[in-house]
Amino acid sequence: MAYEGSYIKISNITAINNKLSAELEYSEDISKFFYSKLFNVEYNEQIGDINESILTIPPLAAVITVAWATGADIYLESIDKTFFESLNKIKSIFMNWFPKFSFSTEYHIANYQTNKLNNEGYGILYSGGLDSLSSYIKYKEEKPSLISIWGADVPLDKTSFWDKVECAVNKLAEMDAVNSYFIKTNVREIMNENLLNEIYLDEGDMNWWMSVSHGLILTSLTVTLPIKNLIMASSLEGEILFPDGSDMFKLFDYSWADNKLIYDYGLTRHEKIKYLLKGNTQYYQFLRVCYAQFQDYNCGMCEKCLRTITGLLLEGIDPNKSNFKVKEGFLDLIKFYLENNLLLLQDEVLYWEDIQNNVPEKSDIEFFNWYKTFDFSDYNYQKNIKKQIALVYYYRKYRGFKYTVKLLKQRII
Ligand SMILES: [Zn+2]
Repeated sequence: MAYEGSYIKISNITAINNKLSAELEYSEDISKFFYSKLFNVEYNEQIGDINESILTIPPLAAVITVAWATGADIYLESIDKTFFESLNKIKSIFMNWFPKFSFSTEYHIANYQTNKLNNEGYGILYSGGLDSLSSYIKYKEEKPSLISIWGADVPLDKTSFWDKVECAVNKLAEMDAVNSYFIKTNVREIMNENLLNEIYLDEGDMNWWMSVSHGLILTSLTVTLPIKNLIMASSLEGEILFPDGSDMFKLFDYSWADNKLIYDYGLTRHEKIKYLLKGNTQYYQFLRVCYAQFQDYNCGMCEKCLRTITGLLLEGIDPNKSNFKVKEGFLDLIKFYLENNLLLLQDEVLYWEDIQNNVPEKSDIEFFNWYKTFDFSDYNYQKNIKKQIALVYYYRKYRGFKYTVKLLKQRII
């Protein structure tokens, strides 16, 4: 759906001490897609002497996908020329991915500036997840600075959880003598992502953040840091099967000013455990994969946690040394879940097949010999998310796996 004559104007961009902010003005007809007129980012260090054409990158990255979708024109003073060229490449990819977008945006920009920042070294977008931790291990000889962003996957009101995250990042930074940067932003509180999902995405897409905006936004928040090569881990190994808001970086060399992105992809999730994590025992303690809750580092109950634990066990890595609490009988529970069609949603099966593909001819663990022959083709996917939540609840409450299986048999089946 296109909005004729609509616009988004980015103005009053300031960088004072460690804070970057910009005002967003938009026409009335598209105001329903916005919650706020103020974009802000806070860094744990002072922002250096950086010109407006670079400082405009983060607020522009925040709103540009909404402009493409609605067809709103963009008004701003000055933009880095290389970044603008990158944006055009992303737009041409998105034109194939998002058929409901308007793409009639016109730009009213006074100045396209060529910048040479002469930065050096590496940085990595780091969450502690399997993807970014594996990429960090892969590139650790380059001593990449760890860049953690609060306000992306962890909401701004989860203060004590974020304290835990910061603490773990600082521990890793100290252990390996690398820098750590912490960024806090309201970027996800500006847009009505649910409404954008509803109007502009297809059923097969995940959501606005995952499918459209996260790659552009996360990378843009780092442009004020003194880093030349930014590493971002892909969560999907190779061929692009569906729109993913960072996988467009597989298709061209993303750059801004004289800096560039290294988009790290090629290994499946299980291969990352097998080839990068395994054996690097000092890094096990930093693994944080769970987004089902924001209290414990990993809940150990959601599908993603269960899948990761299963992968670790296959590779002989003790999950209890990787921020999980796993008791005896865990694999019996997984077997029970799978046999009763209780564990998976349809798009999660690929990850479980990935683990299955890595089971050797003969495993010392009996479960995996059974699992190797498990047939996912007639798996009855869980459509009812409430049922999954109920399972998690029972699991949480009673923890003991044997008891959970017994309980599930009595109450749910
Ligand atoms: Zn979890």
